[in-house]
Amino acid sequence: MDAASAKVLVDLITGHCRLNHHMFKIKLSYHAGCACGAPEETVIHLVADCPIYFLERLLYLGSVKLENNWKTIKLDRLVRFFRATVD
Ligand SMILES: [Zn+2]
Repeated sequence: MDAASAKVLVDLITGHCRLNHHMFKIKLSYHAGCACGAPEETVIHLVADCPIYFLERLLYLGSVKLENNWKTIKLDRLVRFFRATVD
């Protein structure tokens, strides 16, 4: 895995990325919510069920909505999904 992909994974694991949940914590956003109406725009929300990114989820992760199976996703697919949505 290259360094850029490893950085994306660190961002995903720590939640330290441009999602509003983190941006609100560091006072760079006025709210923690997602544009879809969810109260918190977190990594799990983005990867598992945000309706805004259902097409990207289907394309990169193989399902429009992930339930309990999201932990079995291959890391390279997760990196590609994250790059297409947030990065
Ligand atoms: Zn959302």
